[in-house]
Amino acid sequence: MNVEQLKKIKFKGFMAEDEKTRLYELAREVGRLGPCLEIGGYCGGSAAYLGLGCQEVGTLLFSIDHHEGSEEQQPGQEYYDPDLLNPFTRRIDTFPTFRNIVQAAGLADTVIPIVARSAQVARFWRTPLSLILIDGGHSFEAAFTDYSAWVSNLLPGGYLVIHDIFKDSSRGGQAPRCVYEMALASGLFDELPMIRTLGVLRRVEIGRISRRAEQTWESVRV
Ligand code: MG
Repeated sequence: MNVEQLKKIKFKGFMAEDEKTRLYELAREVGRLGPCLEIGGYCGGSAAYLGLGCQEVGTLLFSIDHHEGSEEQQPGQEYYDPDLLNPFTRRIDTFPTFRNIVQAAGLADTVIPIVARSAQVARFWRTPLSLILIDGGHSFEAAFTDYSAWVSNLLPGGYLVIHDIFKDSSRGGQAPRCVYEMALASGLFDELPMIRTLGVLRRVEIGRISRRAEQTWESVRV
């Protein structure tokens, strides 16, 4: 399958097609350095695009999600989708949809689902990553945990990608944006153009200095 064929698949989810296409391009660009990882696989939309990029360069995508949906997706809440209800648990279960999409896209050997909370997995993770997508829980605690638990695994030259960055707080919660600003302020990343609400940061190579770090140095040196 190629990316044009992928665009014909109907996905559930909250990511625009040009954001997902950007994920595909980024995975294809850096995937040779090491596997990619996403936090917040949901119904498999971003996993299919990232996974296709990974497949084309012979690497893997690990996709972490507890697949129980967020609080606002539970029965009676604003983003409830009855198609995603598990009749046995009476709770949301996005994993069957995720798996169907991955199989339909021909990516079952490339996309490795991990059904768990990201911080639990991070404690035992030792593999350097070429790309990390943070698109999980949108509370500050969840977004900050996903960032702080995983960022040390990102390879120099790799991408930290954060979804749902809203400059205007009336359009969405501010936790992903706050984490994005913290990462940028660390001086460890260069900022690339944002696609809608998809923020893209590149981990600077060892021995290089980020633009943000240079600006900070200019502002403090006497
Ligand atoms: Mg999102």
